[in-house]
Amino acid sequence: MPIKIIPMKKSTLFILSILIAMTSIAQQVKTSAAAVSKGLTKEEKQVMAWIDAHMPQAIELLKESVNINSGTLNIEGVKKVGALFAKEFEKAGFATEWVAMPDSIKRAGHLVASRRAGAAAASSNSSSSKKGKRLFLIGHLDTVFEPDMPANPFTMLNDSTATGQGVNDMKGGDVVVIMALQALEQAGLLKNTDITAYFTGDEEHAGYPREVTRGDFINRAKQADIALAFEGANGLNSVATGRRGASGWRLDVTGKTGHSSGVFTPGAGYGAIYEAARILNQFRETLSTEKYLTFNPGIIIGGSDIEYNSATSKGAAIAKTNIISPAVTVTGDLRFLSEDQKDRARIKMKEIVAQNLAQTSAKISFVDGIPSMAPTEGNNQVLSVINSISMDMGAGDTVAGDPGSRGAGDISYVAAYVDCIDGLGASGRGAHAPGETIHLNQLPFLIKRAALTIYRLSR
Ligand SMILES: [Zn+2]
Repeated sequence: MPIKIIPMKKSTLFILSILIAMTSIAQQVKTSAAAVSKGLTKEEKQVMAWIDAHMPQAIELLKESVNINSGTLNIEGVKKVGALFAKEFEKAGFATEWVAMPDSIKRAGHLVASRRAGAAAASSNSSSSKKGKRLFLIGHLDTVFEPDMPANPFTMLNDSTATGQGVNDMKGGDVVVIMALQALEQAGLLKNTDITAYFTGDEEHAGYPREVTRGDFINRAKQADIALAFEGANGLNSVATGRRGASGWRLDVTGKTGHSSGVFTPGAGYGAIYEAARILNQFRETLSTEKYLTFNPGIIIGGSDIEYNSATSKGAAIAKTNIISPAVTVTGDLRFLSEDQKDRARIKMKEIVAQNLAQTSAKISFVDGIPSMAPTEGNNQVLSVINSISMDMGAGDTVAGDPGSRGAGDISYVAAYVDCIDGLGASGRGAHAPGETIHLNQLPFLIKRAALTIYRLSR
């Protein structure tokens, strides 16, 4: 049946030619994608090779810093870690200084390391010829582990995982910053850059008032264009473009006291405990499904006679089951992704508080804690630079992590003034828990990515 065979051959050829055309289109697309990503330069490859060759020094520095206890309240320990890192910054050509805190604040202070483009020129206009971004790199020297807690010296758990106090949060991240800068310096790539590294001494338990403990931090960040924070990395392919902020509230409810048998009558009303329960339940019903918004009542005290000490978070109550309770105090937190979200939530909460049950009244007050780092277009632009670096390194793309997965951090204080990215530090598990770990096999990539990020943004 030749007549049938010939058309089949034709159609096979046709399909084949389509396949060939498709393959060639795919190749063209691939080629043009490669053309869009610049690829690594000779200098960048040199930086990466230096980092590989100096991983033993990186691990040694990590070990040395982890083995100095620097719980936030261990002022001597925090200063010692600061002195250790200061020497390393100086190797990268940075000038270092210690920002001391007044004794009354009971915190160690902060390490600041900086290099200025054209530092010799007096006029601030001299930097106008510089094309690169001014960078503000954030780390912290303290950990949550105070000296009276069980010690956990740096220990290798297997050939790629180590444990130790602050090994991941965030001495690992501090080492990422330092090694990245040293790698760039030895290649001569920090010339004419404007970079400040700010390692706070009380990130885990910041001292009050915050105007004093974060005032200098904020002022220096305002002189930069971009802030990069090196808190723990969430895998190798995501960074944080947003972090939630934290704030607090206090609800005080009063009611008419009297014999319990009269409760629910117009004269006696409902008492303070029913009114507090109504308010909390309505908070939950009205606001609990809003994305990125959470609020948690942490303590509730109610009865005939109550005491609450906000400084110690302790309270006491005296009451009887046959007395309508006249007083309740509740305190809680409120976490949010933008100032607008926080403000809207506060307005709703005030409205709910105002709808009092009979013979009760209530008032709510709010205190600001740490601001949020809202995901902005500027942050996304910095992410796109990191993404292209990751692609050039052959590590796949980098995306923005879920802002709901991170609490507040130091970078949040400056998010209103500069573009921000966090989560550029070490990777590991169990931050803040005894036995936290670091993935040492991922550390070389994270140092290289940090170095190239600093390099490309600053030139
Ligand atoms: Zn941290």
